[in-house]
Amino acid sequence: MQHTATLLLSEFVTHDVKRFIVSMPDGFAFQPGQGVELAINRAQWKTQGRPFTPTSLPDDRVLEFTIKGYPEHAGMTRELHTLAAGTELLVSEPFGTITYKGPGMFIAAGAGVTPFISILRDLARSNALADHALVFSNKTPADVICEKELRHYLGDRCILTCTRSAAPGCDKGRIDEAFLAERIKNLDQRFYVCGPPAFVDSINAALRSLGANPEALVFEQ
Ligand SMILES: Cc1cc2nc3c(=O)[nH]c(=O)nc-3n(C[C@H](O)[C@H](O)[C@H](O)COP(=O)(O)OP(=O)(O)OC[C@H]3O[C@@H](n4cnc5c(N)ncnc54)[C@H](O)[C@@H]3O)c2cc1C
Repeated sequence: MQHTATLLLSEFVTHDVKRFIVSMPDGFAFQPGQGVELAINRAQWKTQGRPFTPTSLPDDRVLEFTIKGYPEHAGMTRELHTLAAGTELLVSEPFGTITYKGPGMFIAAGAGVTPFISILRDLARSNALADHALVFSNKTPADVICEKELRHYLGDRCILTCTRSAAPGCDKGRIDEAFLAERIKNLDQRFYVCGPPAFVDSINAALRSLGANPEALVFEQ
């Protein structure tokens, strides 16, 4: 089933990521971490649905999406970033395998943090953030989505690393097996992994090699 929703507000979160506040479609329900297919309800765009993850909470009065735009590429996200309030959107039923299954470490790259934003907000609301950590990779410190909020939730369990440049509180380097070995204190926990497919494959391989239980890896299949 497809729902219609109205764009109420958009604003920049980083230099190329915007937050979209959208009316809550009638009869729509999702779990934190799930994705939807979102399309713009205009002639040339309504068949161009793309997957995105609500970053709001199921009982919020509106839906929030946090979406990176690619200005050099004439795709749906570029169009989305130009939309004015009032534009109608199409929202599919939710799907996906990333939902909360218990305490653990979240490992994300770039916009792959979006399912974890919703899950962490949910945990924060029920004061259940202990025993959770986030390892979050970006190109530069300017690309980190919701940095203040994530640090507020997790303190020194919010581990940021950037591949192209460092900053205070943000290491320089890629997340690989050595990086994880230094930071994982307990292998007997869940690991939630989200990012580009090559990132997910390499992190899952590193976690398995370190001895994590393959059944404790949560990622989009
Ligand atoms: C389950 C799921 C949930 C997701 N949730 C989110 C989310 O919450 N927020 C979010 O920001 N993203 C999310 N994504 C990624 C998002 O779906 C893609 O960024 C989006 O589909 C891109 O659509 P597009 O039409 O702009 O690009 P497309 O035309 O579909 O191109 C696909 C990809 O190609 C790359 N690309 C192609 N050409 C160029 C170019 N010239 N310059 C730069 N890049 C290029 C981009 O990386 C782009 O992502 C999610 C993906 C999945 C699978």
